[in-house]
Amino acid sequence: MFKSRILSAGSWYPSLGRRFILLVVIVLASTMGVTTLVNYNSQNSLFLQNLQNKGSMVGRFLAEISVEAILSYDFVTLNDYVRDVTGGEDIVYAVIVSPDGKNMTSYLDFNDPYLRQISTSAELTQVMPVIKQLNSLPEIISMEFPILFGGKALGNVVLGMTSKRVNDLSRQDLYRQLLGSGFIILFLAACIFLVFRISALRPIVRLVEGYRRVSQGDLDTVVNVSSDDELGRLALAFNKMVAKLKASTQEKDTVLVQLQDLNANLESRVEERTQELAIVNKELEHLALHDPLTNLPNRSLIQDRLQQCVFEAKRDKHSFSVIMMDLDRFKEVNDTLGHNFGDLLLMEVGQRLRQVIRETDTFGRLGGDEFAVILPGADIETGMLVANKLLTALEDSINIDGMELSISASLGIASFPEHGVNPSSLLKSADVAMYEAKQNKEGYCVYQFNNDPNTPRRLSLMGELRRAVAEDTLSLAFQPKIHLQSKKVIGAEVLLRWQHPDKGFIPPDEFIPLAEQTGLIKPLTEWVIRNAFESYARWCGSGLRVPLAINLSMYNLRDNHLPGFVNSMLAQHHVQSSDITFEITEGTIMHDPLQTMKILSAMEDMGICLSIDDFGTGYSSLSNLKKLPVHELKIDKAFVMDMASDNDDVAIVRTIIDLASNLRLSVVAEGVESEHAFELLKTMGCDSAQGYFISKPIFESEFLQFVAQRKFRLEPQLKISRK
Ligand code: C2E
Ligand code: CA
Repeated sequence: MFKSRILSAGSWYPSLGRRFILLVVIVLASTMGVTTLVNYNSQNSLFLQNLQNKGSMVGRFLAEISVEAILSYDFVTLNDYVRDVTGGEDIVYAVIVSPDGKNMTSYLDFNDPYLRQISTSAELTQVMPVIKQLNSLPEIISMEFPILFGGKALGNVVLGMTSKRVNDLSRQDLYRQLLGSGFIILFLAACIFLVFRISALRPIVRLVEGYRRVSQGDLDTVVNVSSDDELGRLALAFNKMVAKLKASTQEKDTVLVQLQDLNANLESRVEERTQELAIVNKELEHLALHDPLTNLPNRSLIQDRLQQCVFEAKRDKHSFSVIMMDLDRFKEVNDTLGHNFGDLLLMEVGQRLRQVIRETDTFGRLGGDEFAVILPGADIETGMLVANKLLTALEDSINIDGMELSISASLGIASFPEHGVNPSSLLKSADVAMYEAKQNKEGYCVYQFNNDPNTPRRLSLMGELRRAVAEDTLSLAFQPKIHLQSKKVIGAEVLLRWQHPDKGFIPPDEFIPLAEQTGLIKPLTEWVIRNAFESYARWCGSGLRVPLAINLSMYNLRDNHLPGFVNSMLAQHHVQSSDITFEITEGTIMHDPLQTMKILSAMEDMGICLSIDDFGTGYSSLSNLKKLPVHELKIDKAFVMDMASDNDDVAIVRTIIDLASNLRLSVVAEGVESEHAFELLKTMGCDSAQGYFISKPIFESEFLQFVAQRKFRLEPQLKISRK
């Protein structure tokens, strides 16, 4: 800033040297000028004085010599005198006038430049006017000298002197002086400037140069000014200042270098930490997005990839599929062989299946024994192909800790956009399909809307059914079972009824499968058992013992608590266990024979009878049938109802009746809608019947009326047991 101010000042200020020389010149010139002017004036005055003195001498001399000529009226001599005088230097004219002012001489030098300049020759005859005119000129000095004789004035000598020559002389003298002064001034100025330059300007220039070098960063600059004056002291101070500056700059540089070192150190440490952090972050991210057990993508990552697939599929208008997989009987493995074994199994399954999956596909663990596969760009057929590959990969037994284990899985396939348009709906659909596959033991299943308990109507129905169970607003219907020979009532099948406040009657065929899929079947079955036992107890109280057949779902047979619950209900309501029959379908027995056996054995131990419902529709193996603690076969109503029109059905019914007889099981036909069927069954040796021909399922009061009728009297002791 300081530098720029100097530079800007220098741009319009004359340099110090110039200003100094200008000042010197002005001072010298004005001094010399004044001196010369004074000299000139005194010289001029002196010249004028001499001129006047000269005029006085000439005039007085003329006055003295003219006395005689005047007294003798010798005007010619007077004219001669006058002419002689006029010829003298600086005298323009000389006239002798009488005391009354008239001219006595008439000589005028007409060669005089003054006279030629002012008048024509005609006018020059008039002497006095010419003289008057001449006197009016500034350089003309007019002088009068009296001509005295014996104290009496004879006339006057009038003399006209010109100061022109004197003035010219003075002026020339002035010019000479001025010229001389000029030279002196220049000489003096040069000398003074030289001295000034040596003594003052040079140190200043050195200081300026020093300043410039320092400002350019040359801190080794030393200004050499040895004089012991202010400039010398200034240079000394300047040098000290530069030395200090150098020292502090060096110090600063050292600090700067240290700082730079520190900074570099810090930066490398930050870099190191950043890299460490990035690694940790990556690990954390990996941990957050991967399952620690199998190191496969976890639910979050699967959902994220699914979302990505949804975006891409929407944009490119193509489909993709997702497979959900769940190991069969994994819980059993876990429970019996321990969690560590379960974990090893999951790891092995994860590894094995990962090899089957392409790099571009995502295979991850959703949690527990649930896995998911995302197949970008795959349609349902491709999904099915991959599902087959996965199942094949699991066909070989798995060896864990020397133990060979056969494992199977159930897979559900859902495809975008048919089965869901977002990750959650797709996973839900795949889950439903997987559930279906597990139920049907089909390996894999493609999602079907009809099997989905999650549709809006079904979801709302589920909520309402849950409430209905909790609020006790369901009811039971009873369908009588008749002994064919005696036509006596030997019991009733308990059938659940749900009268929805808005939607009206909802058939059990609709809500039972829903309850099975959502786990509500357990409280629902318990509700049925409790209420059926209450009815039984109530009727017993009025002397009516009605054996009851209660339907059990496949899912009830997975519930190990069921026997205990039934037992406690039997005790609570004082129910004769032999009066209770549980109906289970053929499919249920076939699904998981071991588990079914376990529950059914517990029931048999309590004295409860078991009936195989809808018999003829499944493929029960006779060996299984023989092993099971079964007491009754219930011929499916489809065969019974069609007997009138279809001889094959007659044959089937006959075969079932024979089979039951051979296995020493009682047999009941359901769906008896006509007398013809009733009679046919009777002749075929069927034990009992149930159907609209006899009675539709009816509520308690109506049922009590029914059994009170004569036609079908209650005969519980007719309950058939062939074993
Ligand atoms: P299911 O066990 O085979 O029950 C017999 C079904 O046949 C009943 O239908 C009954 O009304 C009907 N039926 C009886 N006689 C005839 C006839 O002569 N002709 C025709 N066309 N049908 C006849 P519902 O009550 O609608 O029950 C349907 C199914 O719902 C039952 O089939 C059973 O599987 C299930 N279910 C009903 N109540 C319960 C229950 O409390 N628990 C369980 N787990 N399932 C139940
Ligand atoms: Ca039944």
